[in-house]
Amino acid sequence: MTPAPSPTLQLGKCPSCHARFVPIDGPCPRCGSAGTETYAARGVGRVLAATALEVPPPGWPSPHLLALVEVEDGVRLLVASDPPLPGVGALVQVVADGAIYRAHPMPPEEDGRGEGDVPKVGGTRPPFEPPR
Ligand SMILES: [Zn+2]
Repeated sequence: MTPAPSPTLQLGKCPSCHARFVPIDGPCPRCGSAGTETYAARGVGRVLAATALEVPPPGWPSPHLLALVEVEDGVRLLVASDPPLPGVGALVQVVADGAIYRAHPMPPEEDGRGEGDVPKVGGTRPPFEPPR
């Protein structure tokens, strides 16, 4: 049996309203409580959307691959992605690389850990609705 992966991602949680979030510094984005905590998560999640920026901001490689990933507890992160561009629903491992979150591909047949609590695409939150 493959040993459990070590947690690689710090997420924030709020003892008052139980929200889970990133970034982990500052008050709770839902209720404003200042008494937030951090916890270690596996960082395994699914790609909700991805794109390749052919003309990225200065300092980034071209193409610059970006993905919106939902990890445990429904926390969503915008991450830089390793090539090739991941497809919607792809299983990835998100790690913090300094101030940047990066996604590494993780084929389900090779991860050996089952999908457990990995969220299904679009399964934990209602669709995004832009402000009117
Ligand atoms: Zn809160």
